[in-house]
Amino acid sequence: MVVEDSPVQRAHAVALCRQLGIELIYEACDGAEALLQLGMLQLKPDLMLIDLHMPVMDGVELITHMHERGWKIPMLVVSSQQQSILNAVQELSSTLGLPMLGLLAKPMQREQLESVLQHYSQCKQRNALPSSSRPPIAVTSADLCHAIDTDQLQVHYQPKVDIPTGLVRGMEVLARWTHPELGRIPPDQFVALAEKENLIFDLSMQVLRKTIDQAAQWQHTGFYPRLAINLSPLLLDSPYIVTAICDMVTSRGIHPSQVVLEITESAGIEHLGRVIAVLTRLRLQGFGLSLDDYGTGFSSMQQLARLPFTELKIDRSFVHGAHLRSNLCVILDSALDMAKRLELTSVAEGIETLEDWRLLQQCGCNVGQGYLIGRPMPAEDIPGWLRSHRMRLPELRAPQAGSENKVEALVRA
Ligand code: C2E
Ligand code: CA
Ligand code: CA
Repeated sequence: MVVEDSPVQRAHAVALCRQLGIELIYEACDGAEALLQLGMLQLKPDLMLIDLHMPVMDGVELITHMHERGWKIPMLVVSSQQQSILNAVQELSSTLGLPMLGLLAKPMQREQLESVLQHYSQCKQRNALPSSSRPPIAVTSADLCHAIDTDQLQVHYQPKVDIPTGLVRGMEVLARWTHPELGRIPPDQFVALAEKENLIFDLSMQVLRKTIDQAAQWQHTGFYPRLAINLSPLLLDSPYIVTAICDMVTSRGIHPSQVVLEITESAGIEHLGRVIAVLTRLRLQGFGLSLDDYGTGFSSMQQLARLPFTELKIDRSFVHGAHLRSNLCVILDSALDMAKRLELTSVAEGIETLEDWRLLQQCGCNVGQGYLIGRPMPAEDIPGWLRSHRMRLPELRAPQAGSENKVEALVRA
């Protein structure tokens, strides 16, 4: 279905669709007409091409109504609006869990539409439509409790590397759970379940114990990576956590300075006084403290000012694709500047491309992590990864200084 108020643009879009072999095409001259037609159609269209600025009902309102009615029709936005508006529409569709295939500028080119449609049909074959909301797998707290008791949880390690040189600085520890019948459960889901069902202490202690066992083994072979462990803010309001963590780490001959605790900011820390005390005591013991997912919550600056962090970990939503989007670049640059002034190590997560890596190099970010460098992997894969990573160091190293500041160039463009 083509939803477009300009008759010329609509005819152009319809013609392109026909050239690409689409036979049945519905046309609507604004959101209201599209909604009306969709309501009458038993079989919804496979794809919607949606303009944004239209009289009566604009494209954003149409998308919102489609969401309210539960119509998850793959869509492509075709618009000549500013990039920041297009970004917001992309954000909206991913927040609502609607499948957005892409955003194209007008006039739409045949090659662009063709490439979007190709990508779409590949996704359809793999049954992997771009939607942010995959339905959760039905696991219960009893399942999770059993998994913890029977040692079903595993840990994977994702490298964190020095951005100027590519050298390994440490690894983040990520929990994994493969349920015997339901298969892999995403950590976001089981960590949230553990937090809700009062299992987060047991889960975290199991992850910590496995990590420290592994660190002790690596230490025997002369490998001393810094290990970053995720800690739920819910754990931080009990003074016992300090002793529990310290005992676990030091009992295996690991020094606390080898461990960084990544804390996700949480909007509603209930007992702030207790949390400040716990985190300050952990710092006193020598643990590093990282403010994880920086930029995603509304209290992040407040937390930075109150708590003794050593590291600022910028959320991947500001990193991924930053080289293409000047507004992300500006946010990234100011977060890095702030980290520098506060004498914190800056870490960027979610680096997937060499272009974003180069940008971070130019902006002076200290440490990076992401699929470009290495995916989370089991401990036994680390030696092989280290060998292949060594071969990539020349490619990753920063080109000599003297080139123009990339952020300024992007903003100017
Ligand atoms: P997080 O702390 O933000 O961890 C980083 C997540 O980003 C990981 O997802 C990692 O696999 C993913 N990631 C890394 N590089 C890239 C990249 O280049 N692109 C993209 N798109 N993603 C990348 P994962 O393993 O699914 O973990 C999700 C979240 O679950 C973690 O987010 C963390 O908040 C939580 N989590 C995982 N393990 C634990 C744990 O042991 N304890 C606690 N409390 N939370 C945990
Ligand atoms: Ca983390
Ligand atoms: Ca993170």
